[in-house]
Amino acid sequence: MTEFEALILEEDPVPCNVKDCHECELYKHDSRMVWGEGNPAAPIYIVLDNPGAREDKEGNPYVCGTRQTLQRGLAEAGIDLNFIYVTYILKRKPKRAYDKPMTRKICIRHLEQQLIHGSPKAVICLGNVSVQSFFRNPDAEVKQLRGAWYDANGWNTAVSYHPLAVRRRPNLYPYFLEDLKFVSEFFNKTYE
Ligand code: SF4
Repeated sequence: MTEFEALILEEDPVPCNVKDCHECELYKHDSRMVWGEGNPAAPIYIVLDNPGAREDKEGNPYVCGTRQTLQRGLAEAGIDLNFIYVTYILKRKPKRAYDKPMTRKICIRHLEQQLIHGSPKAVICLGNVSVQSFFRNPDAEVKQLRGAWYDANGWNTAVSYHPLAVRRRPNLYPYFLEDLKFVSEFFNKTYE
């Protein structure tokens, strides 16, 4: 896969009222909260499992492989970066073992509030963790659900593979791109 020149999207600050959230055990993992990046007023919300690193070891901002592959796919599908906001099921990156079902169930409440506030036209869940959490179905899988729109808790939702999985398995890239084009075509038809 050729390297794509990705941009560092502006981070959306964590709202003051949840800044020091201790609602689940992940606050003990010593990773900072990341609320989202990109345009919070965007029509498309992309939901990943949890934030990746935004800074290198020296603390300099950088674009991780997940975001690089995601931006490459968006560019090739013709989706402008101003049209997207990227956020997560978990607002902190886990660093060791934790109670996954319970933590996702707790933290997804922040995402629910974000969605109500941002009111996007579509949600795109990337990866099985995001899909299973958002659809409230532990058996839901990208492989079975891709290529269609669903009503997930009242949100117009489509799915695709996690960009990191796509990066590790380049044979998934054509499917990933197909899914993003599916989203792009829907927007072009609906909002042109
Ligand atoms: S992972 Fe979510 S619920 Fe848990 S402490 Fe962080 S913000 Fe709060």
